[in-house]
Amino acid sequence: LSNRLGGVFDKLRKRGALSEDDVSEAMREVRVALLEADVALPVVKDFVKKVKERAVGQEVIKSVTPGQMVVKIVNDVLVETLGADDEESQINLRAEAPVPILMVGLQGSGKTTTSGKLALRLRTRERKKVMVASLDVYRPAAQKQLEVVAGQAEVDSLPIVMGEMPVAIAKRAMSEGRKGGYDVVILDTAGRLHIDQELMDEVAQVRDAVKPAETLLVTDAMIGQDAVNLAREFNEKIGISGIVLTRVDGDARGGAALSMRAVTGKPIKLLGMGEKLDQLEGFHADRIASRILGMGDVVSLVEKAAESIEAEEAEKMAAKLMEGKFDMNDMLSQLRQIQKMGDIKGILGMMPGIGKMQKQIENANIDDKMIKHQEAIILSMTAKERANPALMKASRKKRVAAGSGTTVQEINKLLKQHQQMADVMKKMKKMGGKKGLMGAMS
Ligand code: GDP
Ligand code: MG
Repeated sequence: LSNRLGGVFDKLRKRGALSEDDVSEAMREVRVALLEADVALPVVKDFVKKVKERAVGQEVIKSVTPGQMVVKIVNDVLVETLGADDEESQINLRAEAPVPILMVGLQGSGKTTTSGKLALRLRTRERKKVMVASLDVYRPAAQKQLEVVAGQAEVDSLPIVMGEMPVAIAKRAMSEGRKGGYDVVILDTAGRLHIDQELMDEVAQVRDAVKPAETLLVTDAMIGQDAVNLAREFNEKIGISGIVLTRVDGDARGGAALSMRAVTGKPIKLLGMGEKLDQLEGFHADRIASRILGMGDVVSLVEKAAESIEAEEAEKMAAKLMEGKFDMNDMLSQLRQIQKMGDIKGILGMMPGIGKMQKQIENANIDDKMIKHQEAIILSMTAKERANPALMKASRKKRVAAGSGTTVQEINKLLKQHQQMADVMKKMKKMGGKKGLMGAMS
């Protein structure tokens, strides 16, 4: 795959902004990679569209081909799509104890094993008192299986009562859980080989009886194209709160993760990484993304290139700082750095003795919306004006305002801001000296 991609990307060896053709060409291969990873077709289509919108017009980083740049963008969008914020990715235990957690999914997807894994995790990491209960009354050994798993996890399991039906078991589990002072009750349900109405109805009844804080859809990572239907069905009929992907230790590239996340909008919360009970891991979007895409080397290459450019720029800036010089050209490159890196406070925050100047920097009032205008202003100035902003008198301001589509007020503001920054730079020079400064910048 990498070779084939390499071939296409060589053709795209142009510099500058990514054109629509660059992106389309690279995306043809990305599409194949996603399909090979078993991402469902409709999800691939949406995803490709989203990436195209993002990628066209983006600047290609020095020493990287446009194709590689597209791959990096694909990776970023993939990580964003897969990822959820921290709170969303946690197992939600904020409910009255005992907190019910419902495990749902097809037969053989790993529900019972994951119930044991989750019990172990909650017991050891969160110091919770956990009970598990099997609602799988259809397969003869299923309830016994959970009992064995619970023993391994050193948590209690609800005593088995032969002939009892799932909803009754769930209710009994909750009342025993309350009586016994348990923090969490994990309810392991039965699965079918295929989604059917009976299964859905039964799970819905259990849901209504216990009102789970979490309903986790447990899915084998190998599920492939069926992931979309499965996730949609369970989400519509039962309402899931999160996804557990199992057998991630196998060969599957994990495209199901993207399919299910895209279709349900629900976070992937845990990954099953083996048969043993401690083989359960938190979800990391970046890891699964690189597994799905299978182009981790390209992604890290682009990241390294971007880092080295930032380091280069930072070094140049450090050299200027040491001289105590800071003209409009420096400000322009500073503004571009900010656009790339996000935040001047972050850059200046790395420097020594900056605490006292924090106010001044904040007064400089740097925000993203302004930056584009400021860039336009500086670009409309002549080389002389940039090198010596003191030249900027009224008539020049008017000319630059007209040229940049801004106002004289905005130019005044920029000049003032430049002056403040230049002052900071001068103070830095006095304080820092060569050693301190280079230490802080590297
Ligand atoms: P259930 O029918 O959904 O309850 O599935 P089980 O929990 O009984 O699991 C079915 C099989 O998959 C068992 O042999 C498990 O050991 C195995 N299994 C479950 N999770 C994982 C996993 O993350 N990795 C691997 N390799 N095997 C798993
Ligand atoms: Mg089971």
